[in-house]
Amino acid sequence: MKRIYMDYAATAPLCDEALKVMIPLMQTDFGNPTSLHSFGRDGIKAVDSARADIAEIIGAKSNEIYFTSGGTESDNWAIKGIARANRKKGNHIISTPIEHHAVIESLKMLEQEGFEVTYLPVDEYGNVDVNDLLAAITPKTILVSVMTANNEIGTIEPIEKIGAICREKKIYFHTDAVQAMGAVKFDVNAMNIDLLSMSAHKFYGPKGVGVLYIRNGVRIDKFMSGGEQERNKRAGTINAPGIAGTAIALKSAYENFEEKNAKLIKLRDHMISRIQNEIPYVKLNGAVKNRLPNNINFSFKYIEGESILFNLDLAGIAVSSGSACSSGSLDPSHVLLAIGLPHEIAHGSIRFTLGRSTTLEDVDYVVDTLKTIIEKLRKMSPLYPAK
Ligand code: PLP
Repeated sequence: MKRIYMDYAATAPLCDEALKVMIPLMQTDFGNPTSLHSFGRDGIKAVDSARADIAEIIGAKSNEIYFTSGGTESDNWAIKGIARANRKKGNHIISTPIEHHAVIESLKMLEQEGFEVTYLPVDEYGNVDVNDLLAAITPKTILVSVMTANNEIGTIEPIEKIGAICREKKIYFHTDAVQAMGAVKFDVNAMNIDLLSMSAHKFYGPKGVGVLYIRNGVRIDKFMSGGEQERNKRAGTINAPGIAGTAIALKSAYENFEEKNAKLIKLRDHMISRIQNEIPYVKLNGAVKNRLPNNINFSFKYIEGESILFNLDLAGIAVSSGSACSSGSLDPSHVLLAIGLPHEIAHGSIRFTLGRSTTLEDVDYVVDTLKTIIEKLRKMSPLYPAK
């Protein structure tokens, strides 16, 4: 059976370039990078050069790049680390209701510690309005955390404008760029970003490796206690193979950047227009213009997202639904509810995310299969008016 993967926002396969640099660092040059012998020196050399490469891509300095275990740890460290280190200055944080759970749950924990969080409203497309940010800032605000691009609906936020406001008001600005790396160009200085989270497996790097950019001079607490790795800020044996693979994957993500994005945008827009034109009672979720090049998210009225997902899976097609099914809960996604979708519409949502190997034939095959599945499920739905 044909198998088509359209869940690249969940994870992407490891690229060949990354695998190639990782293998020797796991088998021959495998020393602990902090060891003083030659095996360790091989590891640290690879880590130093990865750090420099990643810094260059986002316009940072090498000593502003810290390696973590993934996007989740980077978000947790950025948010809790800034809040706890700057508590004397204030206890107010501003964020949005459409952040990833790594951010939302970190904020919830801080609320239990006495911090106050303002969640800025978003419009029906998931856009933050910078005027709402300006209105929310108080003398106690110490941190603003707004994601660069949303993982479910693909909306890209006005990060540069938010950064400029934060800089003017002397408030730290963190952005979760996990979904945006490789799709959006970053210059942390021009964009006034103080902290930025990445996750390697989203840009064809290895799973379990993250990066946190922390601007020099930013006051932040340690997140992990232990050894003195990462300039005594992030304890734990340095994952040299993972880090080297991350840097190569990121470099390759930004090679022919415009060309790759243009290809994805063409496929994305073709898929969106076919679904809109050929399947009745659908709603595109997320921004129309400022949208990740690989993201398509639709609600299909009168049916459940899970039924669509399972039927597509039976046909060999991998997608993601708009409820937190993987975590064992069938609640509709907090993102879809925040953009104002009623529960029943949010429940019928599917995210398709395209990748480097997606072809026009794949897109057409998925839309053709989807049409048949939607028709079949709607025939069985007591809610469907056109029966
Ligand atoms: N932030 C966003 C926006 C994400 O999409 C994800 C993963 O889906 C994460 C954070 C968490 O990253 P990781 O899987 O590396 O922990």
